[in-house]
Amino acid sequence: MYPVTLNLQGRRCLVVGGGAVALRKVEGLLSEGAKVTVVSPRPIPPVMDLAAKAVIGLESRGYWPGEASGYSLVFAATDDREANRKVFEDAKAAGVWVNVADDPALCTFHLPARVQRGDLLLSVSTAGQAPFAARRLREMLQKSFGAEWGEWVKAAARFRKTVRGAQRTEEEENKLFDLFFRSTVDPERLSARVPAAAEEVAWHSGLERKERSGLVFLVGAGPGDSGFLTLRGRQRLMQADAVVFDRLSEPALPGDLPSRVELYNVGKQPGLHPVPQEEINALLVRLAREGKRVVRLKGGDPYVFGRGGEEAQALFEAGVPFEVIPGVTAGVAVPACAGIPVTHRGEAVQFTLVTAHESEKDEGPQVRWDLLARIENQTLVGYMGVTALPEVVKKLLDAGMDPDTPAAMVERGATPSQRTVRSTLCQLVKDVRRADLQPPSIFIIGPSVRHAESLDWFTRRPLFGERVLVAAPAGPFGEALERNGAEAVEVPLPLTPAARVRMGAYPLSGCLLRSPFEADAVFEERHNPGFGPEVIAWCLGKEAAHRARNLGFMRVEEVESPAGAAALIERMKAHLRARSKYTKPRMRSRRK
Ligand code: SAH
Repeated sequence: MYPVTLNLQGRRCLVVGGGAVALRKVEGLLSEGAKVTVVSPRPIPPVMDLAAKAVIGLESRGYWPGEASGYSLVFAATDDREANRKVFEDAKAAGVWVNVADDPALCTFHLPARVQRGDLLLSVSTAGQAPFAARRLREMLQKSFGAEWGEWVKAAARFRKTVRGAQRTEEEENKLFDLFFRSTVDPERLSARVPAAAEEVAWHSGLERKERSGLVFLVGAGPGDSGFLTLRGRQRLMQADAVVFDRLSEPALPGDLPSRVELYNVGKQPGLHPVPQEEINALLVRLAREGKRVVRLKGGDPYVFGRGGEEAQALFEAGVPFEVIPGVTAGVAVPACAGIPVTHRGEAVQFTLVTAHESEKDEGPQVRWDLLARIENQTLVGYMGVTALPEVVKKLLDAGMDPDTPAAMVERGATPSQRTVRSTLCQLVKDVRRADLQPPSIFIIGPSVRHAESLDWFTRRPLFGERVLVAAPAGPFGEALERNGAEAVEVPLPLTPAARVRMGAYPLSGCLLRSPFEADAVFEERHNPGFGPEVIAWCLGKEAAHRARNLGFMRVEEVESPAGAAALIERMKAHLRARSKYTKPRMRSRRK
């Protein structure tokens, strides 16, 4: 099918039939300025009214053979299939485009369902095969695209005229068109606005970037999975020109971050050192001075042991405006995901967030572990404590803290790789060493740690630990995976740079392949750090499975295709049960 839009102004169109369906065609044609003739022996009253007002021509009789040839477009909408067929054959022989209502076999063109906003036309076509589906899609579009798009398209046309009249190079023209689009369209909410005249002038004089001062958002990414990012944080990310991220904030990068957004990785890369803080500060200032909207994405909360304060100070000193968007800090989120309430009535009436890794000061250490050891009924949450743990525990015990105080350490909390060591203060160091916990880990000491076992809702979910790549839109699969405790890593295909970073933040356990196309696209990414030989290709249907095997996916599981999300989840559960019979419960140390 080859889509076109027709200019019917003044064109002669024939409608054979005079019922309700025919009337709808007549009205559609009239609204586009066509000259309409209706042929029908028994037209319904509204058709007769139109004829009486001389809006249409009406022939109250049956169709005459050969009649179709005098028209640009012909519609047949009688309830007699034979009569319709006659019109179809006639028109076809005469080389006239013809459409028989509700009979795709008797059509040389189809009418799409459409949404009209001024000159903007969105149309949905199923080649006449499933009009009901097209209608429902149209309703979706109707809701999403508000009336403002009509004004917007007018403005776009006007803008194009001025750009075209200004004798610019093609590259400059495209830059201006990009500017118009990016500044007036919110792709997430599918809303649009008409730019102010002054804005357009500014774009033309090429001053927009230099005049628009940049802005930096210090955004807290939460502790792990992008589900813990705040709504505002996500909003700022989606509107950014540049995003500066690091190791801890990688997993929170939205998979659907537009690929136009510049990405800067200032975290540790294998074999490389992290970018020094001063350079990060300078990068933020430089990007902002180029007029960009910059997001500095930081793990947890930007101001909790994240050096966000230093970045803000540097921006302030450089005169760059900034906003801080708080995040869910690991010290609160990770205990929650390990079954530990940081306050608990009658048990813990305060909690302390403390770093076990202080920066050197001339006056010596600043954290008064000796004082902290003496506070009862508190929860002590320690960041950056893997290496310092033995020393910290010794200081607490030396200062008289009860050696039997419940204590825990949680590695990669709030992620599918979360591991918890539950212990007591005097045993913690030994137990953590045995489990070989690595950063990022948090230790939690205090009476309410004793709830960790009974309140562990997080790792108890049936698909906990599964991190599954799913092509967007993940639809019911995404929901079902998340509901059962797996992380659905939703990415567009082909993958964008941000989606690649998110994919590689933690090891994947599987990928969902719904078609050979998805198998190809995912296989392209096999060198991504998140993708190991243990990744299971969950294939819906024979074709996807066949392609996955041919490509060389090591582990392919085929799920019957129409079965859908519920069947997939059951298969995954069964697979996990079978595996846990042979392996020790979740103590695999994943990546170091
Ligand atoms: N700004 C961050 C903390 C950065 S300091 C926040 O508010 O959470 C880095 C330390 O945070 C790590 O050494 C570790 O102690 C802790 N941390 C961050 N994410 C963590 C996670 N998912 N699991 C356990 N600890 C985490």
